[in-house]
Formats: sequence, C-alpha cells, structure tokens
Amino acid sequence: MSEGHYLAGLDLNGRKVVVVGGGSVAQRRFPALLAAGARIEVIAVDPTPAVEADTRLTVHRRAYRDGDLDGAWYAMACTDDPVVNAAVAAEAQRRRVFCVRSDQARSGTAVTPATGRFDGLQFGVLAGGDHRRSAAVRAAIAQALAEGGLPDADAPHAPGVALVGGGPGDPDLITVRGRRLLARADVVVADHLGPSALLGQLGPQVELIDAAKIPYGRAMRQEKINELLVDRATSGKFVVRLKGGDPFVFGRGFEELQACVDAGVPVTMVPGITSPIAGPGLAGIPVTHRGVTHEIVIVSGHVAPDDPASLTDWDALAKLQGTLVLMMAVQRVDAFARALLDGGRDPATPVAMIENASLGDQRLLRSDLAHCAQTAVDEELRSPAIIVIGPVAGFTEGDKVQRA
Ligand code: SAH
Repeated sequence: MSEGHYLAGLDLNGRKVVVVGGGSVAQRRFPALLAAGARIEVIAVDPTPAVEADTRLTVHRRAYRDGDLDGAWYAMACTDDPVVNAAVAAEAQRRRVFCVRSDQARSGTAVTPATGRFDGLQFGVLAGGDHRRSAAVRAAIAQALAEGGLPDADAPHAPGVALVGGGPGDPDLITVRGRRLLARADVVVADHLGPSALLGQLGPQVELIDAAKIPYGRAMRQEKINELLVDRATSGKFVVRLKGGDPFVFGRGFEELQACVDAGVPVTMVPGITSPIAGPGLAGIPVTHRGVTHEIVIVSGHVAPDDPASLTDWDALAKLQGTLVLMMAVQRVDAFARALLDGGRDPATPVAMIENASLGDQRLLRSDLAHCAQTAVDEELRSPAIIVIGPVAGFTEGDKVQRA
C-alpha cells in the first residue's frame, strides 16, 4: 500500500514533453517546463492565443492521436474531455511514460506539485490532491524564505553592497528581493525615510548604521556614507544600503553606486516603490489618467526657483497641462506655486498634498494652485510630503479606496 507519491526532480532539459490540450490548465504548466529546458510539443484543437503565439512551443493544431507520445519522456493530459485524457493516459501507461492527468489526478502516473523558487532553491509541495493546501503551504514557504524566517536565508551572502529601495515607509511595500537581501545583510545602513519597522527584525549580529545620524554637513555626510559602504564591503561584509522609495529617485543612490564601482566593490541595485508615484496612488490619486494627462514631471524642491543652483525651468513647467509632482517642497510651497502662476498656469489647477504616504498617519490635503501655500500653512503640512499639481489632483473617487 502506497503512502503517496515519490518526489523526484526531473531533468527535462532538451527532452520531449507532450502536452495534450492548449487551454488555461496547460498554459499554467508551460513556464516551469520551459524553465527546465523541456522541448514541448502541444497537441490542441483550440489552443489559447497565448499558447499559439508562444514561439518556444511546438503547437500541433489538431486532435490527439494514438502515437503522439512517441519519444516523449513526460506527458500531460490537459484537455477538457475526460475521454481524450483517458486515452492519453492509456498510451502513456503502455509506453511507460509518466503522465499527469489534469482532470483526474489519481488516474495519472504523476502529479504536479505546487512549486516555488528562491535564490537557487526549488521546492515542491504535494498534499494528496488537496490543491488549496499545497498552494497555501507553498506560499507560506516562499514568504518565510523571503522574510528570512527559514534557516536557509541565514546563509552568508557574498561581500558587496546592495542598494535597496525600501518603498515609501510601510514595511509591506518593499520588494521581495529587497526583503530577501535585507534578511542576509551583515551591515545595514538606513535612512530615516523608508521601512524603518523592518529594522526591528534584524538579528543582534547585524550592524545597523543610521545614516541620518552620521555627523558632518550634507556633502561630507554623503562622502562618509560612501566610505562606510566601501569599507564594510572590503572587510568581507554584505552591506544593504536601505533607502526610502527608489534609490535613484532623488536618493543619491547613484553616488553610492559610483563609489562602490570606483573602489572595485561588487554592487547591486534593487529598485523600490517610489513616493512621487506611490504616494498619490495610496491617497487614491492617479498620476496619469487617459485623456487627461500625457506627462508626469517629478521635480525636486530642494532649491528655490530663483536659486542659482536650480536646474529647473519653472517657466517651461508652468506651460504644461499635465501632472507635476513636487518632492522635498514643503518648506517652499509658496515659492513654487508663485513661479507656476507667474509662468501662466491656471490658478484653479487642483493641488493635492500627501503627507506620510503609506504610514499610519498618512494625510491628504486638497487645494488649488492659488491657495495651496496657505493650505499648507493652515494645515501645518510636514515633511515628508508629495505635492501633486494638475487635473488628476482634483479626482476624488479615490477617497473611497480601502487601505490595505
Ligand atoms: N528616493 C525617495 C525620495 C527621497 S527624497 C523616493 O523614491 O521616494 C525625499 C522626499 O521624498 C521627501 O521630501 C518627500 O517629498 C518624498 N517622500 C518620501 N517618502 C515619502 C512618504 N512616505 N510620504 C510622502 N512623501 C515622501
């Protein structure tokens, strides 16, 4: 009496696999088969457009015939006709080719596990035909690995630096890759923006450096951060530079990348969910909307419009119809609004200001270009905030979106 299936990993590289049926069931199997290098022959009367268009598959547009499994190492019967599936399974049995039957798992000679991949690992789960259970366990394993909750994630990482975009602040809004690398860091250099809640989950052995607390002025501090990254990596550590939003959006991430490259330190970049797009989105404001705006311009408010160091042509911006997103602009809302009004932008242009996007105290203020500076003062707008100027800022349907 068998207690279940024998789990094995098949080497299908360059080997013929016959899939009978080209519908959505078959389609879901192809990515993993292709990733394994299988030579896939599909026999289907009515393949989906995606199957038909996939040049990596050999598609025979016809009914299954006895003999189709000739030369196959593995077979799948995925049609919606049990009689055809039974015939495929019978031929497979005769030829001693393992065969999955999608409609009646027990009538086949193999079953497809719920599978996952993580950093060079592959895992599969079978639950005696209970697909929900195997999918749920697969998801749990994938999540635990990504979050570093399973021992494998403690395996040492090669020395180097990863510039990781942490998203706008909610710990749920970092990427899976960012989270995985964070779980393997020896050293974490973090900013005050970004998912600071994740820092509490770092093991006691991890050196945590608060980049905001490094003394010196702005320019010098950045130099010290660069030095620190290079220094720790050259002494054999894996360093995660955890940044708010995306590392390359007003985050000076490229300076850090340059420093690593100059020093010969291996460096990777993990993009992040960036606040000028996600901040409005989380407040229910789309930065684009069909027929309304054909551009988004993201502008740093770090220097005033009349500052000689400004690289922005405010007159040109004032002539645009679309969406303008200002960052780091809380201190100078009046100056930016004035520059746009002086350049001719309509005073009635809607303005939305989103403070602490994604965090528990997220706040949305609404105004228009003529009054937004006053609104910011009256409502005591605080940094970090995103200021959206343009027709999309007047959309209010998004007020009804649920917080995740
Ligand atoms: N690299 C970051 C931006 C860093 S510049 C990114 O891609 O998002 C810092 C500015 O980002 C802040 O002044 C503010 O304008 C914006 N910002 C970052 N996080 C924010 C948040 N949670 N809510 C609102 N604005 C945010």
